[in-house]
Amino acid sequence: MMTLPLVLNGSHCVFIIIGGGQVAARKVRTLVASGASVTVIAPSVTDDIQVLASEGKLTLELRPAGTDEIYQAGSYVVLATDDEQVNALQAQRARQAGALVCRTDEPDGNDFIFPAVVDRSPLTVAISTSGATPALTRSVRERIEAFLPQDYSILARWMEDLRSRLRSEGSQHDRANFWRQWMRSQAPEQILARRPDIAQAITDDLLSGKEPDRGEVFLVGAGPGDPDLLTFRALRLIQMADVVFYDRLVGERIIDLLPAAAEKFYVGKARSDHAVPQDDINQLLVDEALKGKRVLRLKGGDPFIFGRGGEEIEQISASGIPFQVVPGITAASGCASYAGIPLTHRDHAQSVRFVTGHLRNGTCNLPWNELIHPSQTLVIYMGLVGLPYICEQLIAHGMPADTPVALVEKGTLPDQKVHTGTLASMPGYVEGREIHAPTLTIVGSVVTLREKLSWR
Ligand code: SAH
Repeated sequence: MMTLPLVLNGSHCVFIIIGGGQVAARKVRTLVASGASVTVIAPSVTDDIQVLASEGKLTLELRPAGTDEIYQAGSYVVLATDDEQVNALQAQRARQAGALVCRTDEPDGNDFIFPAVVDRSPLTVAISTSGATPALTRSVRERIEAFLPQDYSILARWMEDLRSRLRSEGSQHDRANFWRQWMRSQAPEQILARRPDIAQAITDDLLSGKEPDRGEVFLVGAGPGDPDLLTFRALRLIQMADVVFYDRLVGERIIDLLPAAAEKFYVGKARSDHAVPQDDINQLLVDEALKGKRVLRLKGGDPFIFGRGGEEIEQISASGIPFQVVPGITAASGCASYAGIPLTHRDHAQSVRFVTGHLRNGTCNLPWNELIHPSQTLVIYMGLVGLPYICEQLIAHGMPADTPVALVEKGTLPDQKVHTGTLASMPGYVEGREIHAPTLTIVGSVVTLREKLSWR
């Protein structure tokens, strides 16, 4: 079938739907939303068609379509009954009258078909395989759904307003060139970040011929390792970066997603071996943004959970540089899911506590008494070296020695390993075993659920 995609003005279209089942109902919803004039002819209809009729959004004729049905030239007729003969007869009558026909039981020979739609009104994306393979149409639609942020509606409306403003002001700008620059500027992303005032300032700069100041910092959580766990927003900002500063916890597979042209700097922190001191990192971010670059600060997990994200943006904020923070899946969530250990569970734990087990001078200063609560899951970040000490302290403060413990090694990564034991057995277990960072420790009876819930 050769097809020609057109976008119709719904309010100028007259649709007659023959049939009142689920197939008809799906089309009717789309048509009503477009503002089209809709008449449904069927002896009985689904509840939602009935509701639309009672709201006055369509005309309902509760009767079978007759052999003498009258159609108007130029109207659109959708044949959605499950009776082939009825569909064939009505198609013939409609065409004789000069109407256009879509038979939902026949992929071939239709005058028009309904595409799959991704709706970010006023932006709409229509997808069709010309009726050849609905499964492929659906799959493409799902992909586009996933990659087109919901807020594109807001973006499209903002651009629509700007366009009509420029028109009414009789702006003499080279329009095509202006919009090209605008789309490449930070303005669209600022609108998606709900900062229309910054978008407006960028727009004003462009209109007055000034090079807009693009300098900005994106503090982005890259999640625990599996690139599939990035958020859509993280991926979008990653793809926009001019310069990137990343940590040790950001794995190769995520680094591969960075733009080829971006400058990449490793500022990672292996334990006690800070490749770049924290103060210098903070300063680097500021310096690069002041040069007008889009600076991506990419961190493992969530930047605000044991990530020093707060410290880094304090300085950026003080320098007046715009910044955005994108949450990431923190190691506790990622490791727990991929290990099959729910962090809370009505029968086991009503709360969960994240602590850092990082040792300073061979000890760590944790509020031990608060950690031994029986219906609380304890998640320990940065705790491998301190594990024997931590287990010992928890027991000493009253946690039962047989409390289950899981040690998740390289959580969410292809070579993830989960080691389980108890507070009493774990120190001996890890001794002499080769266990690779990063590791996360989960303490509490939820660990036993892993036997049933492990799925990887
Ligand atoms: N901001 C990060 C945590 C940084 S602290 C987050 O939200 O996840 C670093 C610690 O996180 C590591 O020592 C380790 O305990 C934990 N961690 C991070 N990624 C991990 C992973 N993939 N597997 C296990 N632990 C991880």
